Amino acid sequence: MNCIFCHAVSDNCKSIEHIIPESLGNKEHTLWKGAVCDKCNNYFATKIEKELLEQPYFVATRHNNVIKTKKGHLVPNKYLFPHKQGGWQDVWFDYNDNGMNIIFEHNSPVIQLIKDGKINKMIVPICNEPEPNNYILSRFLAKCAFEYIMLIFDSDTNNYAYRREIIEFLREKQFDSIRKYARYGDEVKFWKYHQRRIYGEETQFIDKKESDGQPYEVLHEMCLFVDKETVSKSDNRICAETYFVIVIMGIEYVINIGEPEIKGYEKWLQKNNYKSPIERNYEKRIK
Ligand SMILES: [Zn+2]
Repeated sequence: MNCIFCHAVSDNCKSIEHIIPESLGNKEHTLWKGAVCDKCNNYFATKIEKELLEQPYFVATRHNNVIKTKKGHLVPNKYLFPHKQGGWQDVWFDYNDNGMNIIFEHNSPVIQLIKDGKINKMIVPICNEPEPNNYILSRFLAKCAFEYIMLIFDSDTNNYAYRREIIEFLREKQFDSIRKYARYGDEVKFWKYHQRRIYGEETQFIDKKESDGQPYEVLHEMCLFVDKETVSKSDNRICAETYFVIVIMGIEYVINIGEPEIKGYEKWLQKNNYKSPIERNYEKRIK
């Protein structure tokens, strides 16, 4: 088999590509060994995902939601303790049977100051959304979109002939720009995307089919969305604007797979009362 990004032979590759990084809580959405070769996998891990996860919003959201790193570590965030010996300190959250715990660095001066009653408040930085026009985020979305096409077609994991066909399909010209932008950052300077919060991080859902009536929280969900009003026929092929929609902890990100423009989606939103294409999955949302 060949790598879907660089097309090199990847038979001996060992890495398993996670569409969303494990450090954002993803264990289930993965591609088979070699779908993305070791070199490309390592490139995305170090040049895209690591940089993305170090952005203030992603640090804060991983910290707040107690999402552990790939190695099982908790993510600290810096809080301000207003005292001359306090200042900005790393703080970790964790839950146990007694509820939530706040953990400080082993030798933090703040612990004694709190015990002595000299510090009685901490200031929490608020960071609701990632920086707009975010180049790393845009490359990340392009990567996820391209891999997701592979994932949805590859439902029968033992059918290698079919898998080969999809790899061939992904080599078609229509996917060239997004593939090269994701992997090499060329073709286009900046691939526009759309970003908005559609529900709060702590929103819970009920869906009888999925969770037996038990409320649950959603870390991420994704789909491909075809704008039916843009369907046209040319050279015996059916064309339509196709978007990759991903919601990560309540923020919806949308990227157009065919071209680096997002105006079509903005128009679709206006016409459709700003509903999310992904909302159809829910019977009920509760606070
Ligand atoms: Zn590769």
